[in-house]
Amino acid sequence: MIVAMWETATEDEIQEVTNHLLKMGFAVHRTTGARQSVLAAVGRRIDFDTRELEVLPGVEKVHRISAPYKLVGRTFRPEGTIVRLANGLEIGGKQVVVMAGPCSVESPEQIFSAAEMVSKAGARVLRGGAFKPRSSPYTFQGLGLEALKLLREAGDRYGLLVISEVMEISQIELMIPYVDILQVGARNMQNFNLLRELGKVRKPVLLKRGIAATVEELLLSAEYIMSGGNYNVVLCERGIRTFETYTRNTMDISAIPVVHKLSHLPITADPSHGTGLRDKVAPMARAAVAAGADALLIEVHPSPDEALSDGAQSLFPQQFSELMDQLRIIAPAVERTI
Ligand code: PEP
Ligand code: MN
Repeated sequence: MIVAMWETATEDEIQEVTNHLLKMGFAVHRTTGARQSVLAAVGRRIDFDTRELEVLPGVEKVHRISAPYKLVGRTFRPEGTIVRLANGLEIGGKQVVVMAGPCSVESPEQIFSAAEMVSKAGARVLRGGAFKPRSSPYTFQGLGLEALKLLREAGDRYGLLVISEVMEISQIELMIPYVDILQVGARNMQNFNLLRELGKVRKPVLLKRGIAATVEELLLSAEYIMSGGNYNVVLCERGIRTFETYTRNTMDISAIPVVHKLSHLPITADPSHGTGLRDKVAPMARAAVAAGADALLIEVHPSPDEALSDGAQSLFPQQFSELMDQLRIIAPAVERTI
């Protein structure tokens, strides 16, 4: 950390800040310029709050240099992480893994038909919510255990792995026999108790970025899971809330290269929640693959107009299959396959 003192800072103030840094466990190197003094604090601690220094008299600016996380940082595994899934499928390797299916599992007909269509188009993982985090308590909340059973059956029938969202600790055990990937939704990105429990399981976890979370906060949430011992974490950019109203969220494509630089963890793009509108999904999916996304999570419904949740952002099966054809052309340009 670098602490720059005001030009007007007194010798006593500089000494006070130095003492504070020493008490925090840092070694301090002082540079006294013609006008200003700068203190460089070095040490192994990462659990400090720069504001502690900012509020001290005489301090102008504090700049953190080391990352506040350890395990998720790129330096922990410079070569990158490949998350290995049940049937040999890998996220973070050469292949961009496409996960697709309805927002929610609604009925046997709906999920079997969705599974058949997305597998034919080339998806490898079937998505479908069993427990739904809905903004309103009066909307469809998901079929729970029944949905998990249907999802598993449909996935097995069409050779797909399955992913579904876990909303609370008590659901983890229930879900483990049925799913291949546990999804943590945007609303739960900072449910630290849930993240800690997911650190204890050995199933891959797909962690979505919160609607108002910075990339650093996303990485710190992943650190909760990894520090519990579960290293099978896949991040997911699913759009953030901004002042723009033409889309449901603003799909932050730049988060993909940003995450790749800061972390070794693979990153998924979810253009469905990222835009909230069907006609914007394919352009953002194409952009995400071009930007280096390791996987895609896309909502597809056999008849979106009748969907019980997120119909407006769900692709028609034909649209999904056309998108897959386009992605097969884009992927090789960035040395990937679909
Ligand atoms: C979902 O995947 O259906 C979902 C609820 O996503 P998010 O947590 O990104 O809103
Ligand atoms: Mn949804």
